[in-house]
Amino acid sequence: MLAGKTALVTGSTSGIGQAIAEALAGAGANILLNGFGPADEIEALRSRLAEANGVEVAYDGADMSDADAIEAMVAGAKERFGGIDVLVNNAGIQHVAPLEEFPTERWDAIIAINLTSCFHTTRHVVADMKAKGWGRIINVASVHGLIGSIHKAAYIAAKHGVIGLTKVTALETATSGVTCNAICPGWVLTPLVQKQVDAKAAEKGLSNEEAKRQLVCERMPTERFVTPEQLGGVALFLCSPAADNTTGVSLPVDGAWVAQ
Ligand code: NAD
Repeated sequence: MLAGKTALVTGSTSGIGQAIAEALAGAGANILLNGFGPADEIEALRSRLAEANGVEVAYDGADMSDADAIEAMVAGAKERFGGIDVLVNNAGIQHVAPLEEFPTERWDAIIAINLTSCFHTTRHVVADMKAKGWGRIINVASVHGLIGSIHKAAYIAAKHGVIGLTKVTALETATSGVTCNAICPGWVLTPLVQKQVDAKAAEKGLSNEEAKRQLVCERMPTERFVTPEQLGGVALFLCSPAADNTTGVSLPVDGAWVAQ
Protein backbone atom coordinates (compact mmCIF):
# COMPACT_ATOMS: atom_id res chain seq x y z
CA MET A 1 0.00 0.00 0.00
CA LEU A 2 2.85 2.43 0.79
CA ALA A 3 5.51 1.17 -1.63
CA GLY A 4 7.65 4.05 -2.89
CA LYS A 5 6.47 6.34 -0.09
CA THR A 6 8.53 7.59 2.85
CA ALA A 7 7.38 7.94 6.44
CA LEU A 8 9.00 9.99 9.18
CA VAL A 9 8.00 8.75 12.63
CA THR A 10 9.28 10.94 15.44
CA GLY A 11 10.14 9.12 18.67
CA SER A 12 10.27 5.74 16.91
CA THR A 13 13.09 4.14 18.90
CA SER A 14 10.61 2.89 21.52
CA GLY A 15 7.00 2.08 22.28
CA ILE A 16 4.18 3.36 20.10
CA GLY A 17 6.39 5.12 17.55
CA GLN A 18 8.42 1.96 16.98
CA ALA A 19 5.25 -0.09 16.43
CA ILE A 20 3.89 2.49 13.98
CA ALA A 21 7.22 2.48 12.10
CA GLU A 22 7.07 -1.33 11.94
CA ALA A 23 3.51 -1.25 10.59
CA LEU A 24 4.33 1.35 7.93
CA ALA A 25 7.50 -0.52 6.89
CA GLY A 26 5.40 -3.69 6.67
CA ALA A 27 3.16 -1.86 4.19
CA GLY A 28 6.21 -1.02 2.05
CA ALA A 29 7.13 2.51 3.18
CA ASN A 30 10.71 3.67 3.54
CA ILE A 31 11.18 4.87 7.10
CA LEU A 32 13.07 7.68 8.77
CA LEU A 33 13.44 6.69 12.41
CA ASN A 34 13.97 9.32 15.10
CA GLY A 35 14.38 9.26 18.87
CA PHE A 36 16.92 8.60 21.57
CA GLY A 37 18.55 5.41 22.82
CA PRO A 38 21.72 3.34 22.70
CA ALA A 39 23.33 3.54 19.23
CA ASP A 40 23.71 -0.24 18.89
CA GLU A 41 20.03 -0.86 19.67
CA ILE A 42 18.91 1.81 17.20
CA GLU A 43 21.14 0.34 14.49
CA ALA A 44 19.75 -3.15 15.22
CA LEU A 45 16.19 -1.79 14.84
CA ARG A 46 17.11 0.08 11.66
CA SER A 47 18.67 -2.93 9.96
CA ARG A 48 15.97 -5.36 11.14
CA LEU A 49 13.20 -3.14 9.73
CA ALA A 50 15.03 -2.70 6.44
CA GLU A 51 15.84 -6.39 5.94
CA ALA A 52 12.47 -7.77 7.11
CA ASN A 53 10.51 -5.48 4.81
CA GLY A 54 12.82 -4.81 1.86
CA VAL A 55 12.60 -1.05 2.42
CA GLU A 56 15.11 1.70 3.09
CA VAL A 57 15.36 2.71 6.74
CA ALA A 58 17.41 5.66 7.95
CA TYR A 59 17.84 7.25 11.36
CA ASP A 60 18.12 10.87 12.43
CA GLY A 61 18.59 11.64 16.13
CA ALA A 62 17.18 15.17 15.97
CA ASP A 63 16.07 16.47 19.36
CA MET A 64 12.40 17.37 19.00
CA SER A 65 12.88 20.36 21.27
CA ASP A 66 15.36 21.86 18.78
CA ALA A 67 13.70 23.71 15.86
CA ASP A 68 16.92 23.84 13.81
CA ALA A 69 17.53 20.11 14.22
CA ILE A 70 13.96 19.40 13.06
CA GLU A 71 14.44 21.56 9.97
CA ALA A 72 17.74 19.81 9.17
CA MET A 73 16.13 16.37 9.61
CA VAL A 74 13.34 17.17 7.14
CA ALA A 75 15.84 18.66 4.68
CA GLY A 76 17.97 15.50 4.97
CA ALA A 77 14.92 13.33 4.28
CA LYS A 78 14.14 15.34 1.18
CA GLU A 79 17.67 14.84 -0.10
CA ARG A 80 17.76 11.12 0.67
CA PHE A 81 14.18 10.04 -0.09
CA GLY A 82 12.77 12.89 -2.18
CA GLY A 83 10.51 14.04 0.64
CA ILE A 84 8.15 12.81 3.33
CA ASP A 85 4.75 11.37 2.37
CA VAL A 86 3.66 10.20 5.82
CA LEU A 87 4.50 12.25 8.90
CA VAL A 88 3.80 10.69 12.28
CA ASN A 89 4.27 13.16 15.13
CA ASN A 90 4.74 10.79 18.03
CA ALA A 91 7.72 11.84 20.20
CA GLY A 92 6.56 12.66 23.69
CA ILE A 93 7.52 12.83 27.35
CA GLN A 94 5.56 13.06 30.58
CA HIS A 95 5.99 14.65 34.00
CA VAL A 96 3.55 14.16 36.85
CA ALA A 97 3.28 16.77 39.62
CA PRO A 98 0.68 19.09 41.15
CA LEU A 99 0.49 22.56 39.59
CA GLU A 100 2.14 24.36 42.50
CA GLU A 101 5.14 22.01 42.32
CA PHE A 102 5.32 21.64 38.54
CA PRO A 103 8.88 22.55 37.45
CA THR A 104 8.91 25.31 34.83
CA GLU A 105 11.72 23.52 33.01
CA ARG A 106 9.53 20.37 32.64
CA TRP A 107 6.61 22.50 31.41
CA ASP A 108 8.84 24.07 28.74
CA ALA A 109 10.29 20.70 27.67
CA ILE A 110 6.87 19.03 27.39
CA ILE A 111 5.37 21.89 25.40
CA ALA A 112 8.42 21.89 23.09
CA ILE A 113 8.62 18.13 22.50
CA ASN A 114 4.93 17.13 22.64
CA LEU A 115 3.42 20.16 20.87
CA THR A 116 5.80 22.66 19.23
CA SER A 117 7.74 19.92 17.41
CA CYS A 118 4.49 18.95 15.63
CA PHE A 119 4.16 22.51 14.34
CA HIS A 120 7.73 22.50 13.04
CA THR A 121 7.58 19.10 11.31
CA THR A 122 4.19 19.90 9.82
CA ARG A 123 5.17 23.32 8.49
CA HIS A 124 8.27 21.82 6.84
CA VAL A 125 6.47 18.93 5.07
CA VAL A 126 3.03 20.28 4.22
CA ALA A 127 3.87 22.33 1.12
CA ASP A 128 5.51 19.34 -0.61
CA MET A 129 2.61 17.06 0.34
CA LYS A 130 0.11 19.53 -1.13
CA ALA A 131 2.20 19.86 -4.30
CA LYS A 132 2.27 16.04 -4.68
CA GLY A 133 -1.49 15.84 -4.07
CA TRP A 134 -1.13 13.16 -1.39
CA GLY A 135 0.06 13.09 2.20
CA ARG A 136 -0.78 11.75 5.61
CA ILE A 137 -0.11 13.59 8.87
CA ILE A 138 -0.86 11.53 11.96
CA ASN A 139 -0.50 13.15 15.35
CA VAL A 140 -0.22 10.80 18.30
CA ALA A 141 -2.19 12.80 20.87
CA SER A 142 -3.84 11.04 23.83
CA VAL A 143 -7.13 10.70 25.65
CA HIS A 144 -5.50 13.53 27.57
CA GLY A 145 -5.99 15.68 24.48
CA LEU A 146 -9.74 15.28 25.01
CA ILE A 147 -10.15 15.27 28.79
CA GLY A 148 -8.21 16.43 31.82
CA SER A 149 -6.90 14.66 34.87
CA ILE A 150 -4.84 15.82 37.83
CA HIS A 151 -1.07 16.38 37.99
CA LYS A 152 -0.42 16.43 34.23
CA ALA A 153 -0.79 20.13 33.45
CA ALA A 154 1.87 20.38 30.75
CA TYR A 155 1.08 17.06 29.07
CA ILE A 156 -2.64 17.75 28.92
CA ALA A 157 -2.15 21.32 27.72
CA ALA A 158 0.22 20.05 25.01
CA LYS A 159 -2.08 17.23 23.89
CA HIS A 160 -5.10 19.55 23.71
CA GLY A 161 -2.88 21.80 21.59
CA VAL A 162 -2.01 18.89 19.30
CA ILE A 163 -5.71 18.30 18.68
CA GLY A 164 -6.17 21.98 17.83
CA LEU A 165 -3.22 21.83 15.43
CA THR A 166 -4.71 18.67 13.87
CA LYS A 167 -7.95 20.53 13.09
CA VAL A 168 -6.18 23.53 11.56
CA THR A 169 -3.90 21.30 9.46
CA ALA A 170 -6.90 19.32 8.21
CA LEU A 171 -8.73 22.51 7.24
CA GLU A 172 -5.73 24.03 5.47
CA THR A 173 -5.13 20.82 3.47
CA ALA A 174 -8.76 19.85 2.93
CA THR A 175 -8.85 20.03 -0.87
CA SER A 176 -5.28 18.90 -1.48
CA GLY A 177 -5.28 15.10 -1.03
CA VAL A 178 -3.54 15.48 2.32
CA THR A 179 -5.22 14.35 5.52
CA CYS A 180 -4.37 15.13 9.12
CA ASN A 181 -5.76 13.16 12.04
CA ALA A 182 -4.96 12.56 15.69
CA ILE A 183 -4.90 9.19 17.44
CA CYS A 184 -5.87 9.39 21.11
CA PRO A 185 -4.65 6.30 22.95
CA GLY A 186 -5.64 5.29 26.45
CA TRP A 187 -3.01 3.47 28.54
CA VAL A 188 -0.34 1.67 26.52
CA LEU A 189 2.29 -0.24 28.47
CA THR A 190 5.44 1.51 27.22
CA PRO A 191 8.41 2.91 29.19
CA LEU A 192 6.47 6.22 29.48
CA VAL A 193 3.64 4.50 31.37
CA GLN A 194 5.79 1.98 33.24
CA LYS A 195 7.19 4.98 35.18
CA GLN A 196 3.64 5.77 36.31
CA VAL A 197 3.07 2.10 37.22
CA ASP A 198 6.29 2.17 39.28
CA ALA A 199 5.17 5.36 41.06
CA LYS A 200 1.81 3.79 41.92
CA ALA A 201 3.46 0.57 43.13
CA ALA A 202 5.85 2.55 45.36
CA GLU A 203 3.16 4.89 46.70
CA LYS A 204 0.68 2.12 47.58
CA GLY A 205 3.09 -0.74 48.30
CA LEU A 206 1.73 -2.81 45.38
CA SER A 207 3.32 -5.41 43.15
CA ASN A 208 4.05 -4.39 39.56
CA GLU A 209 1.16 -6.59 38.35
CA GLU A 210 -1.35 -5.13 40.84
CA ALA A 211 -0.24 -1.55 40.08
CA LYS A 212 -0.76 -2.19 36.35
CA ARG A 213 -4.18 -3.73 36.98
CA GLN A 214 -5.30 -0.80 39.13
CA LEU A 215 -4.00 1.81 36.68
CA VAL A 216 -5.93 0.28 33.79
CA CYS A 217 -9.11 -0.56 35.68
CA GLU A 218 -9.42 2.97 37.15
CA ARG A 219 -9.92 4.48 33.68
CA MET A 220 -10.46 1.86 30.98
CA PRO A 221 -13.79 -0.03 31.04
CA THR A 222 -12.26 -2.78 28.86
CA GLU A 223 -9.72 -3.39 31.66
CA ARG A 224 -6.98 -4.01 29.07
CA PHE A 225 -4.02 -1.95 27.91
CA VAL A 226 -4.07 -0.77 24.30
CA THR A 227 -1.11 -2.38 22.50
CA PRO A 228 1.45 -0.55 20.36
CA GLU A 229 0.61 -2.99 17.53
CA GLN A 230 -3.05 -1.94 17.62
CA LEU A 231 -1.95 1.67 17.18
CA GLY A 232 0.25 0.60 14.26
CA GLY A 233 -2.91 -0.84 12.71
CA VAL A 234 -4.83 2.39 13.26
CA ALA A 235 -2.02 4.40 11.62
CA LEU A 236 -2.12 2.03 8.64
CA PHE A 237 -5.87 2.55 8.33
CA LEU A 238 -5.35 6.33 8.28
CA CYS A 239 -2.87 5.85 5.41
CA SER A 240 -5.26 3.65 3.44
CA PRO A 241 -7.62 4.71 0.63
CA ALA A 242 -10.52 3.92 2.99
CA ALA A 243 -9.46 6.98 5.02
CA ASP A 244 -9.10 9.37 2.05
CA ASN A 245 -11.98 11.52 3.34
CA THR A 246 -11.24 11.09 7.05
CA THR A 247 -9.49 14.25 8.18
CA GLY A 248 -9.51 16.53 11.20
CA VAL A 249 -10.58 13.61 13.39
CA SER A 250 -9.35 12.83 16.90
CA LEU A 251 -9.80 9.09 17.22
CA PRO A 252 -9.86 7.60 20.73
CA VAL A 253 -8.30 4.13 20.97
CA ASP A 254 -8.93 3.90 24.66
CA GLY A 255 -11.06 0.98 25.81
CA ALA A 256 -14.06 3.35 26.21
CA TRP A 257 -12.17 5.72 28.58
CA VAL A 258 -13.70 8.91 27.13
CA ALA A 259 -17.10 7.29 26.61
CA GLN A 260 -17.73 7.59 30.36
P1 NAD B 1 8.15 5.96 24.96
O1 NAD B 1 8.82 6.62 26.13
O2 NAD B 1 8.17 4.47 24.83
O3 NAD B 1 8.70 6.58 23.58
C1 NAD B 1 8.91 7.95 23.42
C2 NAD B 1 9.79 8.16 22.21
O4 NAD B 1 10.04 9.56 22.07
C3 NAD B 1 11.16 7.48 22.34
O5 NAD B 1 11.57 7.01 21.06
C4 NAD B 1 12.06 8.64 22.77
O6 NAD B 1 13.44 8.46 22.46
C5 NAD B 1 11.43 9.77 21.98
N1 NAD B 1 11.79 11.09 22.50
C6 NAD B 1 11.65 11.58 23.74
N2 NAD B 1 12.13 12.83 23.81
C7 NAD B 1 12.57 13.14 22.57
C8 NAD B 1 13.18 14.28 22.00
N3 NAD B 1 13.44 15.39 22.72
N4 NAD B 1 13.52 14.25 20.70
C9 NAD B 1 13.29 13.13 19.94
N5 NAD B 1 12.72 12.03 20.44
C10 NAD B 1 12.37 12.03 21.73
O7 NAD B 1 6.65 6.50 25.02
P2 NAD B 1 5.30 6.06 24.27
O8 NAD B 1 4.35 5.66 25.33
O9 NAD B 1 5.57 5.16 23.13
O10 NAD B 1 4.83 7.49 23.75
C11 NAD B 1 4.75 7.85 22.40
C12 NAD B 1 3.68 8.90 22.22
O11 NAD B 1 2.42 8.34 22.58
C13 NAD B 1 3.87 10.14 23.11
O12 NAD B 1 3.54 11.30 22.38
C14 NAD B 1 2.86 9.91 24.22
O13 NAD B 1 2.44 11.11 24.78
C15 NAD B 1 1.75 9.22 23.46
N6 NAD B 1 0.83 8.45 24.31
C16 NAD B 1 1.27 7.43 25.07
C17 NAD B 1 0.35 6.74 25.85
C18 NAD B 1 0.76 5.59 26.72
O14 NAD B 1 -0.08 5.12 27.50
N7 NAD B 1 1.97 5.07 26.62
C19 NAD B 1 -0.99 7.10 25.84
C20 NAD B 1 -1.39 8.16 25.04
C21 NAD B 1 -0.48 8.83 24.27
